[in-house]
Amino acid sequence: MERATKQQVGIKALTRDELAAEFEKIGLPKFRVKQVYQWLYQKGAHSYDEMTNLSLPLRQQLATAYPLFFPEIVKKQVSADGTRKYLLRLADGALVETVAMPTKTRLSACVSTQAGCPMRCAFCATGRNGYTRSLGCGEIVDQVNVIAQDFGQRVTNVVLMGQGEPFLNYDATLEAMKIMNDKDALEIGARHITVSTCGILPQIRRFAKEPEQFTLAVSLHSAVQETRDRIMPGVRQYDLVRLREALISYGESTGRRPTYEYALMGGINDSNEEMRALVDFTRHTLCHVNLIQLNAVKGSSIKPSTPERLQAFKRALEAAGVEVTLRESRGADIDAACGQLKQRARVR
Ligand code: SAH
Repeated sequence: MERATKQQVGIKALTRDELAAEFEKIGLPKFRVKQVYQWLYQKGAHSYDEMTNLSLPLRQQLATAYPLFFPEIVKKQVSADGTRKYLLRLADGALVETVAMPTKTRLSACVSTQAGCPMRCAFCATGRNGYTRSLGCGEIVDQVNVIAQDFGQRVTNVVLMGQGEPFLNYDATLEAMKIMNDKDALEIGARHITVSTCGILPQIRRFAKEPEQFTLAVSLHSAVQETRDRIMPGVRQYDLVRLREALISYGESTGRRPTYEYALMGGINDSNEEMRALVDFTRHTLCHVNLIQLNAVKGSSIKPSTPERLQAFKRALEAAGVEVTLRESRGADIDAACGQLKQRARVR
């Protein structure tokens, strides 16, 4: 999958190291890199005009060489539970959705890593209108700043669980997570930054070697190969045996507990056989299971399971000594819940 380019999205395509290399090429002193980087991500600047510690000619030079776009809020919806969903327009007109979930003590952001998604999971709304492109690292970070600015408050937690498959846009996603974590930028604790993948194995192995204490979540949704192949056709090539091995070795090498996400779908992955397979898959391994009720997606024949089945799954996992939580979905009244983020047509 292609990375977003500087031609497409301007300065938000560049990592901090790439920015440093570019500035060196045009003869700028090193301290300019940090200044501009802080403006972009710590202060969330909307344009070079705000960078008042840069001379006007320098601002003009940079604006020409590295165009700066800040996402434009096209639409904002507020849920009865306080969740806010934003439709954002990016540099080239691509559209993505971002969700903010406030609680008394926290402000969590759910950000997108691609416009649309190529994975075709049967139960998810995002891929239904196809895939547009991967986001640049800065475009991923900007979503957090959109939320911080709209709330007038620091974002305390980030989940990279919006539109797209983060591990198909690995470099930009990882750089974005580093920027969120960086003290010169958003300074969000690494453990409070979670990336979710549908299970792209080579990138899970790569992620295991990253030094930061980021959190990893994997969308499992069935521990029965046939079922998973059917509902998640995009990851058919990575079978469950190898997925389990990769996650066990991730746990061993990082000492961190990966999360498995499991959305209960009536008559699809909520039978006793599926329950046993999930227990076998997870017991005696370092992991945490997040059970959630499927969120209904308009136009899909896949329906949520019953609350009784959800409880039965929870009890079976607990009885086997597997750590499990039931995740509450938020913002369903504005289609902001898991799996409900839609890719809309590009406007330009
Ligand atoms: N592509 C990544 C990131 C998306 S995260 C991934 O697959 O993990 C979004 C999470 O919501 C994933 O766990 C996804 O499987 C889940 N999801 C998708 N559709 C859903 C739905 N209709 N109800 C509940 N969860 C859903």
